[in-house]
Amino acid sequence: MNMDKKTIVASVIGIIVLAGFPLVFHNPYYIHLAETILIYSILLFGLDIVVGYTGQVSLGHAALFGIGSYTTGVLYLKFGLPILVAAPASIAVTAAFGALLALPALRVTGPYLAMVTLAFGTIVQILINEMTFLTEGPLGLKLVKPDFFGYKVNEVEFFYVVAVMMVLSLIVVDRILKSHLGRAFQALRDSPIASDCMGVSVYRYKVYAFVISAGMAGLAGSLYAYSEEYISPNTYNFELTILFLLAVIMGGRKTRSGALLGAVIVVMLPSLLADIQLFRQIATVAAVFGVLGAGFMLAKGRKTVREIAIPVLATVGLAVFSYQLQNITDWRLTIFGVMTLFVVYYLQDGIIGFLRSLFAKGSVRDAKHAGTQGDESKAWAVAPSTAGIGSTLLAAKGILMQFGGLKALNQVDLVIAKGTVHGLIGPNGSGKSTMMNVLTGIYKPTAGAVEFNGAVISGQTPSSIALGGVARTFQNVQLFGEMTSTENVLVGLHNTFRSNIVDVMLNTPRYRRENAQARERAAGILQFAGLASLADEEARNLPYGKQRVLEIGRALGLNPQLLLLDEPAAGLTAPDIKELVAIIRKITQHGITIILIEHHMDVVMSISDTVTVLDFGQKIAEGKPAAVQSDPKVIEAYLGGSVGDDTPATPTHAGN
Ligand code: ADP
Ligand code: MG
Repeated sequence: MNMDKKTIVASVIGIIVLAGFPLVFHNPYYIHLAETILIYSILLFGLDIVVGYTGQVSLGHAALFGIGSYTTGVLYLKFGLPILVAAPASIAVTAAFGALLALPALRVTGPYLAMVTLAFGTIVQILINEMTFLTEGPLGLKLVKPDFFGYKVNEVEFFYVVAVMMVLSLIVVDRILKSHLGRAFQALRDSPIASDCMGVSVYRYKVYAFVISAGMAGLAGSLYAYSEEYISPNTYNFELTILFLLAVIMGGRKTRSGALLGAVIVVMLPSLLADIQLFRQIATVAAVFGVLGAGFMLAKGRKTVREIAIPVLATVGLAVFSYQLQNITDWRLTIFGVMTLFVVYYLQDGIIGFLRSLFAKGSVRDAKHAGTQGDESKAWAVAPSTAGIGSTLLAAKGILMQFGGLKALNQVDLVIAKGTVHGLIGPNGSGKSTMMNVLTGIYKPTAGAVEFNGAVISGQTPSSIALGGVARTFQNVQLFGEMTSTENVLVGLHNTFRSNIVDVMLNTPRYRRENAQARERAAGILQFAGLASLADEEARNLPYGKQRVLEIGRALGLNPQLLLLDEPAAGLTAPDIKELVAIIRKITQHGITIILIEHHMDVVMSISDTVTVLDFGQKIAEGKPAAVQSDPKVIEAYLGGSVGDDTPATPTHAGN
């Protein structure tokens, strides 16, 4: 495993701080406070997987935390089981509850998870209160510090147990998030439709993420029970859930340091807001940092005066206000609310995200010679297969696609021969993209069937069609914006991983081998697409033309037999189009069949072997490009119909 210098330095400092803490602070109160921070961190690492990575909102993590605590509490009190049984059991039971919750809730999109987990939280609290035979109800359960093989640990030793578990959780979660699993979680947040079409089932990975997250909450809950030595139902309330969410958002999502910082903030906050002197000092420090940070942003030209005015006024205002205050207890909730609003409005990437942006490098626009080709020998290549050229690869028969009263496709037949480039053209709204969505399983046709390699694929999920060898790009680019070019292509290569979560957690030779192979192939694909120099750039920062090419590269990761390109040249400049055409030609030389939707007639006509023309959902012409181009019905459709795209679309008029 290769770690960069920063990670090593941070790890060493972290371990020294953790190991040294009880040696420096002898006060049991402080040790307990630090222990709570570590326990919350474990939960927050997990919560961040759901909130930060998959972009779902869970309002049930306090309840999951409670289930973890009570599993341990009950196993200890009723069955006398030791921690080495109780803690794993807590993880398993809580993960099982997570699965129970996520399986139905995540089948539907939208805010369902938030609603279901909210209800779940209430139900769990009621159940803990009512199931007195197990939980003693509102009286709660009393525990003692655990023992290991008969050796009972004291408070300081238990702090070390928690610290070790936090570090292990950190390593495990970090490994998961940097693996193909973590990429799947991020991808489905950035573009669910593209994830599915890359063979990464959105539903499956959402559930997966939630179950892992629940397991982490279970572990945290178990440790919390031993740490507090007393658990009662009202600890695991709605406020705690909100506090957890706040911690992730304030600290900064998608970072482990953010989760740690978030844990520090939410654990310390009640004590900070209890002492007016301390609050004044902190508000002053915050104001100083606010002013300095804003000045820095201004000087660097990253923000305008208007953008920084309110945050600066707010932090300074809070500091001034703190000196006016006589009694803080009445104002605690208000101050807490103001801080929350502030973070939501001005620190959307949390404190860690803000700090990172301060030290961020220049933008991609500075990257020189983005398209330079390097060592061609390492570039992507698949053995060109000439087998069965000209035979039918895909056949769509009598496709009817109805949206309400509109027949977007009306009895369309389409036969795609292996090894060819098949152009699909037609005026705007004629049903081209709809056809592509039918072929890739995003739409289920109202009638008709799609056969691929002789087997019916219509009705299958987009991800299984993708895994069967059909890859695509989208008319409106659907990249995973927050992920780098390499990571985008690696999502396309997701199918090459056989490693499971245990392989990833233990970093087994199998996972290491697959990871190295996938990375090598991703680098090859980027090389092939002329994106090697942009490999580590976030996709959203790429120039538009490069984004389009990256989308094609990502699709190649699937090693497809059929590649569907939906208006790949739309919005590109003339040199970009030239580059694109060259790439498409190179792809066909690898024996990959292509369906090409395009408005630039010169592009379609020059590289297509066959062209099909759609108009108002019906096929009006098909044949060799030259014949189609001079077909009166086609000319009529283009001249008569609404052409109104940004590109010239008449077949006789060559696009620029
Ligand atoms: P093209 O790609 O050829 O420009 P589309 O396939 O996107 O055209 O659209 C064909 C027709 O189907 C349009 O009238 C469009 O409004 C309609 N359509 C496409 N998708 C949907 C949908 N999900 N719901 C309703 N109507 C749709
Ligand atoms: Mg379209």
